Amino acid sequence: MLNRLEAQSPDALLALIKLHAADERPDKVDLGVGVYRTGQGDTPVFAAIKAAEQQLVDRQDSKSYLGPEGDMGFVNALMPYIFGADATMGGRIAGMQTPGGTGAVRLAVALAQKAGMERLHMGVPSWPNHAQILNDIALETVTFQHSNPDGTANIDAVLEAIRNAGPNDGVLLHGCCHNPTGIDYSAEEWQAIGDAIAETGIFPIIDTAYQGLGHGLEEDAAGMRSVLAKVPEAFVCYSCDKNFGMYRDRVGAFYILSDGQDTLDNAFSNANALARASWSMPPDHGAAAVRLILRDEELTKVWKDELDTMRSRMRDVRRALADAGTAGSVDLTPLGGQNGLFSVLPVSKEQVAQLREEHAIYMAGSGRINIAGLTMGNIEKFVDALADVTG
Ligand code: PMP
Repeated sequence: MLNRLEAQSPDALLALIKLHAADERPDKVDLGVGVYRTGQGDTPVFAAIKAAEQQLVDRQDSKSYLGPEGDMGFVNALMPYIFGADATMGGRIAGMQTPGGTGAVRLAVALAQKAGMERLHMGVPSWPNHAQILNDIALETVTFQHSNPDGTANIDAVLEAIRNAGPNDGVLLHGCCHNPTGIDYSAEEWQAIGDAIAETGIFPIIDTAYQGLGHGLEEDAAGMRSVLAKVPEAFVCYSCDKNFGMYRDRVGAFYILSDGQDTLDNAFSNANALARASWSMPPDHGAAAVRLILRDEELTKVWKDELDTMRSRMRDVRRALADAGTAGSVDLTPLGGQNGLFSVLPVSKEQVAQLREEHAIYMAGSGRINIAGLTMGNIEKFVDALADVTG
């Protein structure tokens, strides 16, 4: 039976990790993998997480089952950060824990499909797993161009997609720090998107995986909140894997917004049943650690300071790149105004290969770079190499 299966190509980024690990050149630069790195190139465990984990070791007295919704203390503690001071938006939100942001996206798409969504509109390029999940669940995807060549958001394309959508369509938006382009909507653009969604009734799914890595926790949530304030129903998919550095511990959450209490309860019960049939229950450890941080003023402060350090380091790298102006044919100035871990450079696959082979610089074939892979010590090398291969 198994020989009927077609081989799947390996994940390109994982293959890149192996190539990078095998490279013995001492000045090699890894801009591929999507994790934060310090100026020394490390991806350390947050001090706030270490302290919370110690509390878990000392005080956790049971690892008995929790249920498909996971740690509701964690789910509730996150809500003011996501939805603002009125954390439940007047009792209109129901949430559950998921295995990472990926679990939340998977659950959102599966629940949308179960509720009758026929097509999901999505800006491209996007996080590659969006397309993979949609394909796996077999929900029809309609794409539009997310960005313009000059490094700005293609607001006309998203508004057109929303305005021309059918009655059972949805639209997938990145809450902040767009992966891979780093190009976010302005406050005015978010308002226009929210108005268009409210007019057409298209169902919004907002994927927020990098809150706090752009301009700040509140600032990064503002666009998403402005849409949620205008619509009767929405899904929010959330990841703590970047802003708490929990990557492999798989910490995420899924939230449903609905105007009607019965509808909300009913949708939640369906999400619960889907979670039960998918992973039964999410892993507890990471979410429990995040809950302990968010319920403790001191630890919350330690976490926010760590997040501030990450964000300002990435802003420094972006500023240095923008200050470099151009490298060969690549204009680096738009990177200064973009947000989060990633940006996309207009380079060909051949140029990406040349950067790897001749300069030991590793990046995705799509031209995506991880901003946190650069340091004040290697930016010059990177800019020179880019000039060399594109000039
Ligand atoms: N959405 C987007 C846009 C992402 O970039 C990512 C992480 N790369 C996720 C969701 C999923 O994050 P997690 O690792 O928590 O599953």
